[in-house]
Amino acid sequence: MSPFQKFQEWHQNRHQYAQEWKARTGGKVLGYFCTYVPEEILYAADVLPVRILGSHEPEDVTEPHIFAMFCPFCRDCLAQGLKGRFDYLDGIMISQSCLHIRQAFWSWQLHIPTSFSYYLPMPHHVQSPRAQDYLRGELAQFKGAVEGWTGRTLTDADLDRGMEIMNTNRRLMKQVYELRKAPNPPLVGADAMEMVLSSQMTDKREHNQELAALLEKLPQQKRDGDPPVRLMIIGSEDDDVAFIKMAESLGAVFVSDDHCTGTRYFWNEALPQEDRLMAIAQRYLDRTPCPTKDWPERRRFQQILRLAKEYGVQGALLIQQKFCDPHESDIPQLARLLKENGIPSYFLEFDMTVPLGPFRTRVEAFLETLREEDLF
Ligand code: SF4
Repeated sequence: MSPFQKFQEWHQNRHQYAQEWKARTGGKVLGYFCTYVPEEILYAADVLPVRILGSHEPEDVTEPHIFAMFCPFCRDCLAQGLKGRFDYLDGIMISQSCLHIRQAFWSWQLHIPTSFSYYLPMPHHVQSPRAQDYLRGELAQFKGAVEGWTGRTLTDADLDRGMEIMNTNRRLMKQVYELRKAPNPPLVGADAMEMVLSSQMTDKREHNQELAALLEKLPQQKRDGDPPVRLMIIGSEDDDVAFIKMAESLGAVFVSDDHCTGTRYFWNEALPQEDRLMAIAQRYLDRTPCPTKDWPERRRFQQILRLAKEYGVQGALLIQQKFCDPHESDIPQLARLLKENGIPSYFLEFDMTVPLGPFRTRVEAFLETLREEDLF
């Protein structure tokens, strides 16, 4: 049995998990659209945050609600709501990120009403000296709205608990990622992706217990055979486990990533300070940014380079959800930066309506060039 089986089960049965959690605890479940949502405040209120992600099936229900030239991911997310797959949600929210996913949120709010719906104006200019006070103020308003919704006042002790749950989860997942630095890592990219995805869909207290148990046994696991080609995957939202498995079946292993279903989600912690809301605000302003928030200094690029070097990356796949402007604008500059640092990259445009076959041929060709470069 794979040590990652529980994470796979949680990911595959995410709706069942949330419904059972509700029945078991009597608590509220909130669906969120972007990883800039401050889950610390939701955990402080004993609300279960679950990320709204797509199902990767072709759909025909979003056409009247969302532009066809918005990314397939945001349409897939909205389709889940319109098809009733998230009927158990008590509330929804978004933190401002990109226009596409915001449209999915507004449309969901209009057509699938819930008792709580919140738009958090997360600043784009996260490097501005005014961003901290601004976001702290917004978090105070959000905390007030959650208190009104749940009927309970959130104390500093509650916020400390929320931060501790989140930080523990981040720390443990980082320890698992650390094992990916080994020449033949004891986990593959698909395992890592299932681990992070399941953390976005389950009660992190349970997830933390599973992570602690995993870390007891994983370091002793050894993989046989030749070391695979070490890849990094970078870009738009990506929860495409089937793609990762396909690429890894070709003699590669993903050892790191820059995804909001990966390192961008959990890499940094909220550092304790007297003003709890400021601690949370700083955490979200200082995290590895989404391209919509990565200016004027390109902090995401530096983080990508750091990861690529630390994890011994031989090549990078740069992926973009079709029509994803924020990531698309970054790709030429990123490819150049990687090349200057001796890391070849290959660009792929994702669209869930495209079958895996053509991707297989292209990834195979990329791996071939990496192996040839290794020979000379
Ligand atoms: S993939 Fe790109 S366009 Fe789509 S929601 Fe994410 S950032 Fe926005």
